[in-house]
Amino acid sequence: MAVHGIHHVTAVTAHVGQNLEFYTNVLGLRLVKKSVNQDDTSAYHLFYADAVGSPGTDMTFFDWPMAGEEQPGLATVGLTTFRVPGESLDAWEARLKEAGCGPVRDLDEADRHRITFADPEGQRLALVDDSGLANDAKAWDKVVPSSQAIRGILGVHLDSARPDMTRRVLTELLGFEDVDGVRFTTGSDNTFGEVVVRDPIGRGIARPGAGGVHHVAFRVKDDQSLLEHKDKIESLGFRTSGYIDRFYFHSLYFREPGGILFELATDGPGFASDEDPATLGEKLALPPFLEGQRAQIEANLKPLPTLKVK
Ligand code: ZN
Repeated sequence: MAVHGIHHVTAVTAHVGQNLEFYTNVLGLRLVKKSVNQDDTSAYHLFYADAVGSPGTDMTFFDWPMAGEEQPGLATVGLTTFRVPGESLDAWEARLKEAGCGPVRDLDEADRHRITFADPEGQRLALVDDSGLANDAKAWDKVVPSSQAIRGILGVHLDSARPDMTRRVLTELLGFEDVDGVRFTTGSDNTFGEVVVRDPIGRGIARPGAGGVHHVAFRVKDDQSLLEHKDKIESLGFRTSGYIDRFYFHSLYFREPGGILFELATDGPGFASDEDPATLGEKLALPPFLEGQRAQIEANLKPLPTLKVK
C-alpha cells in the first residue's frame, strides 16, 4: 500500500486577481476549476493544472484577502517544484525575469537543472528539468508552447519541525522510498513524485499566510486505498479528518508530526465530472451539495478579472 505521486498542492493568496494573472498568463497553466472553499464558501478556490486537470498537475489556491503574509519557517512546505523539458529552461528564465520573479538557476538535490523563483506574493516555486520522465500530463499550450509547458508537479520540499518523524511517516505510512535520507520518491515513470526533507537549521515555526502553502495532497488510486490508509493512520494514533467527499476527488487529511498538513486524495472522479473539458474553469463550479445555495454564494463573491491570453 503506497501513495503514488503528488496529487495537488494547495496554497493561499490574498490577491486573487494577480494570482490568476500569474498562474495562467506567466506560468501558462490552465484554470481548470473555479470553485469555492467547501468549508468557507465566501472564498474562491482556484485550481490551475494541465489541459484536462490530470491528477498530479494541480496547484490550487484559497482566496483569503485578509490573510497576512506568510512568515517562512518550519512546519510547512518550503518549495513546490514543477516539471519542464530541460531545453525550455533558457526560455523560462527570460520569461520569469521579465515577469520580475527573480529566477535563480542552480542544481537540485538530484543534480537536475532548475530555476527557483517566487510568485508575486513570495510563493516559493521551481521549474525542474525532468529529463523527459514520463507522466500523464496533457500540456496546456494556449499560452506557453507545448515544447516548454509545465508538465505537472515534480514534488515538494517539506520544512518539517521534526524531520526524523516526517521521514518515518513518508516511508512507513505512505510507502515512499528513501533514496538518500533527504529525497523520498514514490511511484515510477508516470506517477513519479518526490519529497525532500532536510534537517532544519535554526529556524522558528512558520506563520501561515498568503504566499505560503496550506497543505500537500498525495495520490491514492481509489476509495479502497484511501480507506486502508485511513485505518493505518488512525491505528497509529493520528487524528484524521475522516473520509471526505470533495466531489472532484475523495480525501483524508491529517497533520504529520513535523506540523505539515497532509491530504490523501483519490485520482477520480476528476475535474471534468461536472464540466465539459472544453470549457473547464469558465463558470463557477459547485459540488451538488452546494448547488442549492448558488445564488447566495455567487452574491458573496467578488467578480474575477477577465483575462486575455497573452
Ligand atoms: Zn487539497
